[in-house]
Amino acid sequence: SPVHAGLYTPSDQIFVLSPQNVEPVLVNSTAAVLTEFYASWCGHCIAFSPVYRSLARDIREWKPAVALAAVDCAAEENRKLCAGYSIRAYPTVKFFHAYSKADSTGKAFKASSHDVATLRHRIIDKLENHQEPWPPACPPLEPTSQAEIDSFFETNNVQHLALIFEDSKSYVGREVTLDLLQFENVAVRRVLSSEETLVKKLEVTEFPSCYLYSAGGNFSRLRVNMEARVFYSYALQRLPGVVRSGKPPPVKVAVLRNNTGEPWRPFNRSRVYMADLESAMHYSLRVELAAHTLIRGEELTSLRKYISVLTKFFPGRLVVMNLLKSVNTRLQNHTENEISYETFREWLDNKDQSLDTALPEGERWVGCQGSVPYLRRYPCGIWTLFHVLTVQAKNTGGTDPQEVLSAMRNYVQSFFGCRDCAEHFQTMATESLSEVNTFSAAVLWLWSRHNRVNNRVAGALSEDPNFPKIQWPSPEMCPGCHSLKENGEHRWIQDQVLPFLLAHFSSSSILTGADQ
Ligand code: FAD
Repeated sequence: SPVHAGLYTPSDQIFVLSPQNVEPVLVNSTAAVLTEFYASWCGHCIAFSPVYRSLARDIREWKPAVALAAVDCAAEENRKLCAGYSIRAYPTVKFFHAYSKADSTGKAFKASSHDVATLRHRIIDKLENHQEPWPPACPPLEPTSQAEIDSFFETNNVQHLALIFEDSKSYVGREVTLDLLQFENVAVRRVLSSEETLVKKLEVTEFPSCYLYSAGGNFSRLRVNMEARVFYSYALQRLPGVVRSGKPPPVKVAVLRNNTGEPWRPFNRSRVYMADLESAMHYSLRVELAAHTLIRGEELTSLRKYISVLTKFFPGRLVVMNLLKSVNTRLQNHTENEISYETFREWLDNKDQSLDTALPEGERWVGCQGSVPYLRRYPCGIWTLFHVLTVQAKNTGGTDPQEVLSAMRNYVQSFFGCRDCAEHFQTMATESLSEVNTFSAAVLWLWSRHNRVNNRVAGALSEDPNFPKIQWPSPEMCPGCHSLKENGEHRWIQDQVLPFLLAHFSSSSILTGADQ
């Protein structure tokens, strides 16, 4: 648990500074570091904190070149630290160059704006004016020229060079360059619209637009839904041969078969499979729960709520629904404040009842298969299960819009084996779950929080290279879900996302054994 209650945690992708770690983060670091000095009681700081958190999410991929840090100057143990940097007003944001000396107090950074794009552009301005030595992970940001492109593949060992044609005022080229810095086999350069020879040669008429130049000397236009940063970055990160640095290239399906020791079941990535939902229930109720020999108090409440929403909303096969109903009734009639797992397990395995009542044993992952046995599977299944439940609650007319999310929150809190995940989910729930007051809002809440987790864990060791974490659904899956704000920032069209989610997770589109 944190030493003190500051405004940020490391899960925000922000270095939380303290006297113990300030030196390795700010002194002689290979990355530039933007640092916010704040006081947790200051209203402006509290108002700025969601902006700073969004900024951290937005430029997560830039971390090796420029990272974000924050320090709570209201905490007793940080008083000296803040005084050492001559901080007198909160919040104060400073930019520390890479390889800053111990006596550096950073450069002033104007953080008056609450607009993430403005702040991001100011960071780029600072990087461009970065004194020597340049942060080694930061690619060149200045515009390229015909001459550099002509000899590009002689000096760079990459497969693709992406050229972003744009006006001099545009930041898109530099943003995409930084978005791709943790990816191998692709380099990005900006070309100004004033670079006439190239513009004429490729007949470029749209700014921005992106062209791929390959080692063979061919140019081709990068096809995207919209000419904007996120669409370029998304498409470039997925080009053939492009991989996250330090990650092995995605394994082919034939190899996957050998890795898991199970036959690989081909599946459609844009569908939901009943086998995953039943496997997730099996794992949660027979494996995860089994770690709790005695379930009592809050845990018992969590279990009751979980079984209750499953009984009400799980669009399962008749045998499974019968089983859930019988377990639910027994749990509701169980008046004691505790239950042994053994008793619960007997109800679940239903040894002495009729045969049309059962929760199948064992795991049979389909859409949640991973390329190795320890990736995807259960966490993928439990996400999918709860998405389905929020959608079913809307479709079947539940009575309480928060019922499913509240059950999920309790389940995760009491039982979910990944404790870091649970803590983080709890934080998100505390922040905003109470604002959910319609069934549609519940569906969208879970979707957007899941995307937050995706953003946070992209590139982590737990990411399956065959299933990279994306902001979901992708532009291919739902073109209409994506759009741009006036300032060129990505915008979700929630009016499109909602029907997409309702269709994707609806009971009629879940594939069962028969149609797999
Ligand atoms: P998952 O993220 O598990 O998604 C499963 C499927 O859901 C995807 O294949 C896709 O079809 C669909 N999907 C993806 N995004 C969305 C969306 N936004 N809305 C609707 N559907 C979507 N791992 C960590 O490393 N750190 C954490 O803090 C963490 N927290 C977690 C919290 C919870 C509550 C849960 C259930 C899991 C958490 N995990 C965390 C695990 C992590 O989120 C993934 O579940 C795991 O890495 C497996 O990833 P996956 O590729 O199978 O996709």
